[in-house]
Amino acid sequence: MPKSTGQRELFDSQPAWEEDDARRGIVATVVLPDGVDKPLDYLVPESLAAAVEPGKRVRVPLGRGNRERLAYCVALRSGELPQQPLKSVAGVEDEAPLLSPLMLELTQWMSEKWLARRGEVLEAVLPAGVRATRKRRSVPLLVATDAKPARKPSPTQVQVLAAATAPATAEELASRTGASRAVIARLVRTGMLAVAGEAGDAPPEDGRARIAHERPTELSPAQSGALEAIRAPMRAGRHETVVLFGVTGSGKTEVYLQAVEETIAAGRQAIVLVPEISLTPQTCDRFRARFGRVAVLHSHLTPAERHAQWREIARGRVGVVVGARSAIFAPTPRLGLVVIDEEHESSFKQATAPRYHARDVAEWIARNARVPLVLGSATPSLETFARCLAGEWTMCRLPDRVGGSQLPPVITVDLRDPSSRARGSVSPRLAAGMKWALEAGGQVMLLLNRRGFATHVQCRSCGHTVRCPQCDLALTVHRPGNRGICHGCGLVTRLAPKCAACDAPHPAQRGTGTQRLEDEVRGLFPGVRVARMDTDTMRTRGSHERTLDAFRAREIDILVGTQMIAKGLDFPDVMLVGVVNADAALHLADFRAAERTCQLVTQVAGRSGRGQLGGRVVVQTSTPDHPAILSAGRHDYEAFVRSELPVREALLYPPFGHIVRIVVRSIDERAAADWAEHIASRLRQEAGASAPTEAAGSPAIRVLGPAPAPIARLRDRFRYHVQAMGRDGAILRDLVRRATATVQTPDKVAWIVDVDPVEML
Ligand code: ADP
Ligand code: ZN
Repeated sequence: MPKSTGQRELFDSQPAWEEDDARRGIVATVVLPDGVDKPLDYLVPESLAAAVEPGKRVRVPLGRGNRERLAYCVALRSGELPQQPLKSVAGVEDEAPLLSPLMLELTQWMSEKWLARRGEVLEAVLPAGVRATRKRRSVPLLVATDAKPARKPSPTQVQVLAAATAPATAEELASRTGASRAVIARLVRTGMLAVAGEAGDAPPEDGRARIAHERPTELSPAQSGALEAIRAPMRAGRHETVVLFGVTGSGKTEVYLQAVEETIAAGRQAIVLVPEISLTPQTCDRFRARFGRVAVLHSHLTPAERHAQWREIARGRVGVVVGARSAIFAPTPRLGLVVIDEEHESSFKQATAPRYHARDVAEWIARNARVPLVLGSATPSLETFARCLAGEWTMCRLPDRVGGSQLPPVITVDLRDPSSRARGSVSPRLAAGMKWALEAGGQVMLLLNRRGFATHVQCRSCGHTVRCPQCDLALTVHRPGNRGICHGCGLVTRLAPKCAACDAPHPAQRGTGTQRLEDEVRGLFPGVRVARMDTDTMRTRGSHERTLDAFRAREIDILVGTQMIAKGLDFPDVMLVGVVNADAALHLADFRAAERTCQLVTQVAGRSGRGQLGGRVVVQTSTPDHPAILSAGRHDYEAFVRSELPVREALLYPPFGHIVRIVVRSIDERAAADWAEHIASRLRQEAGASAPTEAAGSPAIRVLGPAPAPIARLRDRFRYHVQAMGRDGAILRDLVRRATATVQTPDKVAWIVDVDPVEML
């Protein structure tokens, strides 16, 4: 029997003679970075057959005008061409693929999992510097030579030569000396400047490690157990997710370091993700001191620097990549290990499209590369905890601090008791604790998760609160200057001396922010050195590190700050940690409010008493009996998890169910509300239609809303949201896809889809 395709056997309608005419060729499937979301097919002309490859960008004609667009080639197939004629690929942009087959597959998976456009995902996976390199593919570095000039060089030439004692690009030389490109070109022609390599060859040197961390001679039994749990799958070449649930100071980082050591010894590369805020020189030094060549990918890199790092990683010259969320996409050719520190941090989820979560991406990558994924936290997310309890992931507990220091006792101050607030926001108990620590030669950290001076301005006579004209938010008072600032849109206004509603004079500045707290602390402890750390004081690059260095060097006695100070810092002399208002975030309209509060208080409490002097924690709260506060006070995060999980399960909230949140925005409130209503009804229709196909007992999909979002107006846009919830993520996403596939968004309305959101406001 002659060989034929299944299709020809089934539909043997074509006369045999047509077979010879059937056109054969190569078809490239491409995805546009924006615009059309659907993958498009193009014919690959013979002249480009060798050059077109999946993972490269190609130029393709688009639309009736055949305007050329850049697109990502995601697949190639050769064989019979379809009936309808195809347009041809016009050119190839990249010499080598920017994306490996595995990364291409990842982008497909990501676009399905987060209902994101494939083009958007492709753009997110590749850093801007890599995407924009065509024109700058090889920028030569120039350096002055010893060649004898034929003529006496002009003053400008002398300047350029002086500037080129170290290799620099022509552009750099021009901007440093004011010389024209022609002057530089002439110097190259006459041999006075020579090409000394290519820009972006070596990553910028980040300086030497400033703090040496000795490699401890012996791991604690808990550390050894954890390291063994990582080593076993590593050596067997299989994937496993290992969760290090260890109190602050239990030596988790040391376990990561030794696991990375082993990875490098095996000739492989490791990716270590940390929250952006923890990407301090201290953290990086710890890796650099141990491993030498470490690529650090932080948000301050220029596109060119990022590209340089990217290339070094891709060439396999870097053993360890340390970075924030997007470092998970680093193109490691021989990946051996992925680590996520502080895995509970919400910054691992991207807030803009594609709204991916780096933890899920890391798991996909580690699974496909058959390498271990290590997640570490003192307060693992409930999502992570649940997967450990279900036996999917391995949990290693590190319940004690290394070196035998004890977790500090926690004193709770009930803010409902008027005597606790007699003198302002620092209760007498907290002030006494601070005094105790300072007198014993220790340092103090005070956490208040609200920046500014006062949290709102309220009329003493009619109670009117000053709100942002563009947002549904109260204005925060900031000093100096006594300005009203909106934390939603950043609007800065002068505060009126009178109430806008009733004309009464001198509205009251109520509520305490970090600025007022700083003033209050200075008043309570005259002569004591106080510093404040929040986004207002940390605007310039490096100020974060400078403040922390000063605190470490004991040039600061009391550090006042927002959650910025709660993260992963190790200061042995901190003897008192005060949480000024533990419930600040407890009552937000977010089902994770309790989890976040417990995590924050537990984390900051862990900053106290790390050294020999011991320590204490004072937590001020109006809800001392809340499980989140009680558990944090006992350093028993797991107790909170066990009390919270059943609550989540009853409501089908994550980790037991999935949520797709749709946020609709419009300058016109009616339009926003109507469109949200339309989306909600489409979702309900689809949910109703699919209900009978679901197995008995499996809960149906719930659609909540539409309702005004908790922040009902932001930057002059009214916001409405709709939530679809269901136990099975794939079914839920499918339903949302069907419900929204053909909708025509009206004018003046914008809407986003957030799968498994972490931001509910
Ligand atoms: P975590 O990451 O859990 O907060 P670290 O790994 O930073 O903990 O450890 C806290 C401190 O203890 C660090 O200064 C670290 O160098 C030190 N350390 C870690 N493991 C050991 C050990 N086995 N022996 C001695 N010191 C250790
Ligand atoms: Zn505003």
